[in-house]
Amino acid sequence: RMNASSRPLHARIHLDAIRHNYRIAKASAPSSRALAVVKANAYGHGAIEVARALAPEADGFAVACLEEALELRESGIRDRILLLEGVFAPDELAQVDAAELTMVVHCREQLDWVLAARPERPLRCWIKVDSGMHRVGFAPGDFGAIHAALGACAHVGELGAITHFARADEPGHPFIQRQLADFDRALGGKAVMSSLSNSAAVLSLPRAHRDWTRPGIMLYGISPFVASHPAAAELRPAMTLESAIIAVRDLAPGEPLGYGGRFVCDRPTRVGVAAVGYADGYPRHAPDGTPLAVAGRPTRLIGRVSMDMIMLDLTGMEDVGLGAPVQLWGDRVPAAEVAQAAGTIAYELFTGIGRRVPLIHE
Ligand code: PLP
Repeated sequence: RMNASSRPLHARIHLDAIRHNYRIAKASAPSSRALAVVKANAYGHGAIEVARALAPEADGFAVACLEEALELRESGIRDRILLLEGVFAPDELAQVDAAELTMVVHCREQLDWVLAARPERPLRCWIKVDSGMHRVGFAPGDFGAIHAALGACAHVGELGAITHFARADEPGHPFIQRQLADFDRALGGKAVMSSLSNSAAVLSLPRAHRDWTRPGIMLYGISPFVASHPAAAELRPAMTLESAIIAVRDLAPGEPLGYGGRFVCDRPTRVGVAAVGYADGYPRHAPDGTPLAVAGRPTRLIGRVSMDMIMLDLTGMEDVGLGAPVQLWGDRVPAAEVAQAAGTIAYELFTGIGRRVPLIHE
């Protein structure tokens, strides 16, 4: 990742907003402990800085792979760290042991690796149940046998059960209840430490809170729901992607703008150019009209997004010139609206922030 350069583009990361959002996750599921999901560089927000900001109050963290976990350990994080997909090869188990990580076990191969391991400390294994997502995990009917096999293993310590919802972002959808029922059937009444809830379930599904929740996107201030939902109203956006105007020009009606001439001026148009493009993570598929803010005022994207620049409509903003701040998303421009305009989700915008965009943690 680049350090600050003279190019006027950066992502401000509001660590106090992330702490505030974590507290909402805790208050929404007050009897559960919450693993802050900081995989993919904390959804683009900087995993080390986010984990350090949350460490004094967080119950633990969840990541997607060993490298992400070790980066946190090396930066001084001592709390529980869960590997959401477990290990990808048996030789990773020595590091799981040394770094005292908690791992998901989702398939027969991983089970065999764990059983054959010779760790120095007992391994902590959370058995993934495929309750309906049908991506990874053991069929509910196999849970009892897997649990028994791991339970009988002298070098396995803590055992848990974990599953993931496919449609928790649509509260009330019958598939949510089906997954819950299939998860509970898998456990067969056994009291097993359990983790089911992503952000949407944290905010809308108390029956799924159980022992450990796994809030991700809500920590970054984005509603996890497909439709608007009051439970997400207090979340605060944690990222402001900000650039500035680097050129201004006036175009006559009928003039095309940018690659392919996608936008054609229908009136005398003042065009501003901002230093951000798809190589920085601004979505190339953003259409004309995608919301932006310049100098604190709302306006719209015009013309196709380039690799390093975008154009925006400054018509009627005579006072806006070179250097005026442009907000791509943040408090004035909801990232979810930009994402929706571009046919994607805020998760993808955040994780796609380019490495030449400096993150400024404040
Ligand atoms: N749990 C698992 C297994 C995940 O893969 C994810 C993210 O994709 C999460 C929890 C967090 O989900 P969300 O960001 O929707 O809260």
